[in-house]
Amino acid sequence: MIERIPQATAKRLPLYYRTLQHLHSLGKNRISSSEFSQSVQIDSATIRRDLSYLGALGKKGYGYDVDHLINFLRGLLNQDEVTEVILIGVGNLGTALLKYNFHKNNNTRIIRAYDIDESKIGKKIADTPIYHLDDLAGGDNNNIPAAILTVPASAAQLVADRLVLTGISGILNFTPVRLSLPDNILIHHIDLSVELQSMVYLLKNYPMEPIDK
Ligand code: ATP
Repeated sequence: MIERIPQATAKRLPLYYRTLQHLHSLGKNRISSSEFSQSVQIDSATIRRDLSYLGALGKKGYGYDVDHLINFLRGLLNQDEVTEVILIGVGNLGTALLKYNFHKNNNTRIIRAYDIDESKIGKKIADTPIYHLDDLAGGDNNNIPAAILTVPASAAQLVADRLVLTGISGILNFTPVRLSLPDNILIHHIDLSVELQSMVYLLKNYPMEPIDK
């Protein structure tokens, strides 16, 4: 089913899932589409359209049943199955991600990390072992779908090329480099400095209206 829904919708589903889990933890059993829209900060028409692709329709005047949607999305997103990923570049950011290890969303786990710094190789961070980059193609990674890239910008393209040779299908790219890779590789780019800079710019130039209490 997931192949047939638009990619833009598929990208939003994990956000819906996480938001619903949060609402559930607050004791919400059902939610109107406008409340849901406020929580995820996506307009309600988009949400309705996304969920209708999945056949999960809210009832008019009732909204969405939170438990039902969580169960539905859990199945769709394979939340019961753990997906193992690897990380390359155990610097400050890589170390933070290894320590974080996506505990809160326990279906994805970083199982191995790689670096070229001999002083880091053979050590573990938060139970995740660090190997030399030369061991990347050893065969262990044949079934790993994705890698997190936290190497310096100067190494990003070369390391990404090596990742492609291991058969990886997706790269979560934390480096500022726009990677040039074959079209069948999915690249998600997260440039934290740009995100922060653009938020600061927006705050300075488009100050939010104060909310009347
Ligand atoms: P961060 O950018 O995460 O804050 P940092 O400033 O501590 O990290 P960087 O120089 O950005 O360090 O390097 C990040 C990590 O990537 C380091 O551990 C470094 O040894 C590693 N690294 C550098 N080149 C490569 C490479 N070609 N392959 C794998 N790891 C590499």
